[in-house]
Amino acid sequence: MYKASDLLKKAANGERLTPEEGLRLYTEGDPETTMEVAHQLRLQKTEPGLVTYLVDRNINYTNVCTTDCQFCSFYRLPGHPEAYVITRQELGEKIEELLAWGGTRILMQGGHNPDLPIEWYEDLLRWLKATYPEIECDCFSPSEIENIAHLEGMSMEEVLERLHAAGLDGLPGGGAEILDDEVRKRISPKKTKTDVWLHAMRIAQRLGMVTSATMVIGFGETIQQRINSLTRLRELQDESLAAHGNGFTAFIMWTAQLSETNSMGRSRHRDKYGANYDEYLHTNAFARIYLDNFTNFQASWPTQGLEVARRALYAGANDFGSTMLEENVVSQASAFTEREPHMSVYRLHEQIRLAGFEPAQRDSRYRIVRRFERVMTKEELAPNPIPSRLSPTNATI
Ligand code: SF4
Repeated sequence: MYKASDLLKKAANGERLTPEEGLRLYTEGDPETTMEVAHQLRLQKTEPGLVTYLVDRNINYTNVCTTDCQFCSFYRLPGHPEAYVITRQELGEKIEELLAWGGTRILMQGGHNPDLPIEWYEDLLRWLKATYPEIECDCFSPSEIENIAHLEGMSMEEVLERLHAAGLDGLPGGGAEILDDEVRKRISPKKTKTDVWLHAMRIAQRLGMVTSATMVIGFGETIQQRINSLTRLRELQDESLAAHGNGFTAFIMWTAQLSETNSMGRSRHRDKYGANYDEYLHTNAFARIYLDNFTNFQASWPTQGLEVARRALYAGANDFGSTMLEENVVSQASAFTEREPHMSVYRLHEQIRLAGFEPAQRDSRYRIVRRFERVMTKEELAPNPIPSRLSPTNATI
């Protein structure tokens, strides 16, 4: 059996670790050395001096949900006085603010709303594409797709094909948490199981859509269960890359955000949950090593804060995430975004340069949109408002 230090050498040479080797490295390896190797791999696999970011906006189209995940502070049951579904006027205003910032994508997700038929999603996507054709629509997560399929009595293939035809460009990786059903049954018993989550991604990738992979740690899961989750992602990545070359664009991980506003945060077992910054950085570095078929790893400033996100750029990450412009989900569980809900482009540049890299704007497929070889001023990176495309006839719903 290899020692952890031998496993790091093996990984540094580009050899894949088995799940058993991964478990040994993760549990016995020195975190600092693991981060160094992860950083070396990142320098080999992505442009070394560059850290990328995306100008996009998170939009939560509805907070209505019937799934009762134990860690969620965002949802409201149908009929709750704070329940909402976004209007086109509201959506359009948000997108126009994004366009002013030079944005290229919206990431739109919501609860499992039992009152929205598939036609609602199709109409919304068609309207988005007709009104804002330059904006890429990465919307809904596998569990939302499963919810629509259940409500409509359709397969997930049918749902995804119809939404893709209506304008859906990508399926974000939300709702993966830990891809191990023992954990999922405990923290979100009504939510999508591992095989279904992966199958939705498999279909989306086959359809040529943009997809990302995520993992959230700190639900009281074991290290083995984290390895199981990463292994399932690695297997699907192998499968999709071999079948058609379109796999996950990136891996993004963060820590569970637990507070008095969610069931896990109020639980008498609260002390067993959560993960600290060191664990976040170590896990991110381990994931860079273990997921040898992924290219891009994103630092999560919304959950970890700016200092830790900058450190993550030396623990395997090559991307600083996005401007977001608003955040409504983890903010309600007292995440960093409660204090700083969005990041201006200037502030993103500042953070990336502070970490010692050159910032570059990318699109959702990680293609470089713009490089910034010199330091830009606040004025140069300020938003430029655009004429509104909303009118009483096109924004009435
Ligand atoms: S995490 Fe998503 S699916 Fe779970 S309760 Fe919250 S909104 Fe619903």
